[in-house]
This record gives sequence, structure tokens and C-alpha cells, in this order.
Amino acid sequence: MQIKFHGNFKNTILVSICLLSGLLVSCKDDVSLNSPNGLVVILKADDMGDVGGNWNRFIQILVDDSICAGIGVISKNVHESSIPEIQKIANIKQKNGYPVVEFWNHGYDHIDLKPNSEITEFYNTDYNYQRTHFRLAQHFFSDTLHITSHSFGAPHNRTKLITEGIIESFPEINVWQHYGKIEQYTHTGWKDPKLRVIQETDKRIILSIDYLSLKSFNVESFEKNYINDNKKPYIIIQIHPATWNEEIFVKFENLIQFYKQSEHHATFMTPYQYYESMHKKLIAN
Ligand SMILES: [Zn+2]
Repeated sequence: MQIKFHGNFKNTILVSICLLSGLLVSCKDDVSLNSPNGLVVILKADDMGDVGGNWNRFIQILVDDSICAGIGVISKNVHESSIPEIQKIANIKQKNGYPVVEFWNHGYDHIDLKPNSEITEFYNTDYNYQRTHFRLAQHFFSDTLHITSHSFGAPHNRTKLITEGIIESFPEINVWQHYGKIEQYTHTGWKDPKLRVIQETDKRIILSIDYLSLKSFNVESFEKNYINDNKKPYIIIQIHPATWNEEIFVKFENLIQFYKQSEHHATFMTPYQYYESMHKKLIAN
């Protein structure tokens, strides 16, 4: 049976299921009940060091189109002269009070220690190495940028089991963006809203990436995937604006316009904003 779940209808179904199941499990915090109607789009823009150039253009598009994105910062690559600009950008707000750009921890140096990503910052390195790098990045955010990083995404999306424990030891991290197909192990301390009910008490969510490292944006393929994507509580699109040329910028803007068409009911959110939206902390418009 094919049912296209939409907004209130989806909620009605879920409430009915809750009642029918005899309320064995409380549904009050069910992700779908808390989600806005329609698709949530999370832009995961990786590899920012210094601002300027393409990053300025990318952020200007976010502002002009009233959307938002998460930007993964490589702490070591941020030159001192960029710090005031990053702080200024972090203070640009959406209408709902959330930042237009959520800066998040994308590792301390993003260095490939072996070719072909055999050893990367959080992959096949030891516990102390990973913990030190994670801490350096978090402290760069808090001590230098005066911003709290609530989200993480590993360079190349490569991690090992030990990484999970390290991230969990930083309680300010609520969101881990991850590409599930690379490693198949179960994340015990993390819950993916695509798979599980998120309770009010869940401090950590894992968000799985749907579109990896696009070099170009073919709106037709997003259009084709839309019905399937719209069944999910959110989609993550991973991008690298620093490497874009004119053509890719234009295609990206076309994609944004596609999602902004009223019939698609898409809402853009940053990773932490999505986490908070599920915990009913949305600041009223
Ligand atoms: Zn990266």
C-alpha cells in the first residue's frame, strides 16, 4: 500500500496508532508529531576555514532566500583575521530567532594521515588522538569564537566505535551528522529520528546524510526523489560550497527555488535547530 503522508493526516494516523496500541509507549514526543508539515531540508556545508570568496556568496544566498544551513568548520584552518566575521555571521538570525548559519565542529585539522582516507582524524587513530582533536575544536569554538558547537560531523564521515564515546563525553554536542552506509554498526547512545521515536529526554540524535558531496545539482533528480524524500522526517544534503564554480552556484539556487515552491512545503533547518524543534523549544515566530 502506498500512502503519501502529509502533515495533519500523518499526525492523525500516528495518534490513531498510539490509541490503538493502548498507549504502551507514550507518543507525546513522537518526532512526526513535533515536525512541521512537509519536508525538513538540512544543508550540511563542509570544510570552512577562512570566510570570504565562495562562503560569502553562499551565506548571502541563505540570507536572500530566507533559508539556513549548518557550516562545518575546520578549526585549525581559521585564520585570526576571520574570527570577527564568523562571529558576525553567527549573529544573523532567521525570523524564528535561530541563526541563519549554525557553525559546527568538523574536526580540528581534517588531515588525511594516509592516502585514500585509510587513516583520517577520527578513523583508525587512537583514543587520545581523537579526544585531543575533538577537544581542541570544541575549545576553539567556545574560547576563541565564543560560540557553542552543538553539532559534529567527522571529516570524510569516517569514524570508529571509540569516536562515539568521545563525542558523548562532550554534553553540549546534541547532534551527530553521519553517513550511515559507510559503517554499519549500531550507535547505542544515539537515536535517528528516521528510525526511532525521539523522547523529550533524548540528549543526542544522529542525523543520516541523504545526499553526499554533490558536484552538481540536477534538480530533475531531486524532483524524482521528492515523493520518497517527503516520507522522511528530514533530509540532509552535504555540500562543499568552497569548491563551487558559477554553474554549480546557479544549480544550487535552482534547487533552493524548487524546495521553496509552496506545494513542496519544505522547511530549512540547521542541525541543532532540528534537534530543538523535536524538543518543542522552537522560538515562537
Ligand atoms: Zn570535510
